[in-house]
Amino acid sequence: MKLHEFQAKQVLARAGIAIPNGRLALTADEAVTAGGSLGYPVVVKAQVLIGGRGKAGGVKVAKNADEALAAAKAILGMNIKGYTVQKVYVEKAVKIARELYLGVTLDRDRRRPVVMLSMVGGMDIEEVAETDPEKIARAWPNPLMGLLQFESRALCFEAGVPDAERDVVADIARRLYDAYVKTDALTLEINPLFVREDGGVVAGDAKLEIDDNALFRQQELAQLREVYKDEESEEKARRLGFAFVQLDGSVGIIGNGAGLVMSTLDAVKHAGGRAANFLDIGGGAREEVVKHALQIVLGNPKVKSVFINIFGGITRGDEVAKGILAVIEEERPRVPLVIRLAGTESEAGRALLAGAQLTACATMDEAANEAVRLAK
Ligand code: GDP
Ligand code: MN
Repeated sequence: MKLHEFQAKQVLARAGIAIPNGRLALTADEAVTAGGSLGYPVVVKAQVLIGGRGKAGGVKVAKNADEALAAAKAILGMNIKGYTVQKVYVEKAVKIARELYLGVTLDRDRRRPVVMLSMVGGMDIEEVAETDPEKIARAWPNPLMGLLQFESRALCFEAGVPDAERDVVADIARRLYDAYVKTDALTLEINPLFVREDGGVVAGDAKLEIDDNALFRQQELAQLREVYKDEESEEKARRLGFAFVQLDGSVGIIGNGAGLVMSTLDAVKHAGGRAANFLDIGGGAREEVVKHALQIVLGNPKVKSVFINIFGGITRGDEVAKGILAVIEEERPRVPLVIRLAGTESEAGRALLAGAQLTACATMDEAANEAVRLAK
């Protein structure tokens, strides 16, 4: 789950990291009011759950009320990489001497968080990592100890942080690491971290992504979740307890068990197609659950065929068949369905499905080929 910049900055502020004064605005008039109370110049910033707002024109400096009005009008309603801007954050502008990068994210190879610091902040850090990896200093704190003071200072030395700012930046890095752990974050990043002309150091931007698996113990942050139009099916799937990931292919996938669903994705790929999603109905799914799963997959307009792959253990073939039949009878699916049903009560299931508007296949590969062919 991603948070907006203004929300992530509250997390930073609570961790004792300095942020510029700012106010949220939902309309251009509110942005002007915010500008007036903060004092000009201000920066008007699009609040969308995606990076690269600056390059897309979603961050504008305003020197007076007229400019704030114009900036807010231009940014509100703007489409940034598929996200429509519905709010702007108006912030007191900072006189910048330098822009650093500071972030904590999960290093899956090392199986622990990595703290990264660079003097070349403000731009795409991914690009810097590609072209000039030596410009990013890294530290992998012991998870039981946290980022220790000497490690944090060593990180600053390695990154080339000037003497004057070293202590402040080292302190911010430790606070950021603690906040990362406390919020069960996958990524907590400040890019840019501004060094002001007067030497102060403040967070210019904030990016926070929380591990969805930890939301149960992050109630306060979990309440900030926003559902976007294009994520409604994800939200529905989440409520129903499915493991669901939207992908960009055309073959809808339903299976029971994460391993089976993953091999189903492979089989579809092997057959020359691309999966539209990953959907695991879990073990022991009843008719109603299967029905909801199929409805979610059919709700995606990119889906051109659906491949239902069930290997019944505690999941019963007859229950699965009943769920599929309910969808076929109630809403006449607009795309072909292909099913491979094996395991517990699969014969009963196949008997129920006989004569229904779908293709039944004996093996997974056969079904994958058929689903890919029908999607074309
Ligand atoms: P992003 O593009 O979505 O990462 O948005 P950022 O919040 O990082 O802003 C992009 C860029 O806008 C920054 O790298 C700065 O160069 C500039 N910017 C943001 N806030 C200020 C500010 O207060 N003063 C000045 N002069 N520039 C700013
Ligand atoms: Mn940024």
